Amino acid sequence: MNHLPYPKSIIEFQRTFQSERDCEEYLFKSRWPNGFVCPVCGDREFYFIETRRIFKCKSKGHQTSLTAGTVMHRTKQPLLLWFWAAYIMTTETPGVSALQLQRQLGLKRYEVAYNLLQKLRASMVRHDRDKISGTVEVDETYIGGPTTGGKRGRGAKKAIVVAAVERKDKFMGRIRLRKIPNVTEETLLGFIKETIEPGSYVETDGFSSYRNLSKHGYDHRPIAPDDVDVALPKAHIVFGNLKTWLKGTFHGVSPKHLQAYLNEFVFRFNRRKTPMAAFQTLLGLSTNVEQWPEYKTLYSGKWIHPNAPIVKTTQKVL
Ligand SMILES: [Zn+2]
Repeated sequence: MNHLPYPKSIIEFQRTFQSERDCEEYLFKSRWPNGFVCPVCGDREFYFIETRRIFKCKSKGHQTSLTAGTVMHRTKQPLLLWFWAAYIMTTETPGVSALQLQRQLGLKRYEVAYNLLQKLRASMVRHDRDKISGTVEVDETYIGGPTTGGKRGRGAKKAIVVAAVERKDKFMGRIRLRKIPNVTEETLLGFIKETIEPGSYVETDGFSSYRNLSKHGYDHRPIAPDDVDVALPKAHIVFGNLKTWLKGTFHGVSPKHLQAYLNEFVFRFNRRKTPMAAFQTLLGLSTNVEQWPEYKTLYSGKWIHPNAPIVKTTQKVL
């Protein structure tokens, strides 16, 4: 991440970003902290085509724009709107609903706010691909629907969510959350393998689907059923916070979109101490432009909420 100054208050934000040019300047510094570099040939000299807001390298004429490879690529909305949306989303601790964003930004159409939020959410998951490690609590919970039946009852209307929570002494490290179709060994083991480093201590409630964890390279610590509430404290805190957040901010969400909200919850949680990084990540401004996935692979008409399995994108973006 670039160490660009980050507005500490809403007033400072307003002063820093007053116009499209201010946003462009920020994008330029964020993308090329040491001056323009052609993403194709590395040429450092360029022409700027004012009318199209396009940069052209002098030697070969390769074209690129400030928003290439970011969530704002080919947007019809002003950059200022994107910046505000990302700022509000980053700084409002519980996050915002599309309706709240529409009101705050004074947008005529709800759809614009909704689309902004959904696109910004797409930036949230790609940076959480690395595996968590150390001591990790793993547990599942049910979200929504009537609360009948036992812990793993088959409530048809409920969504199942599995969590992996790093525990560092008394504190929580990083978390991962996923909506899963069932609690079979295949599903739960698949989640664990994709999210937790082998060799980690994995604590579970000893449910049968976890019984072979040690065969897959994990130091499995099943907890006796009576001690579960005491022994998986962090996972239960995460589930509690998640449910409160879903209810409070969004008044519940449909199972179809649940994964997007889980991604947002994880993103907020894992970046709770670094709002600057969160803001830049949301807008798709990572340090290395070559690693940005092409926008249309993320949002191609029909929305697919990003989640594992991992898809490697190595396309160059121009
Ligand atoms: Zn070039």
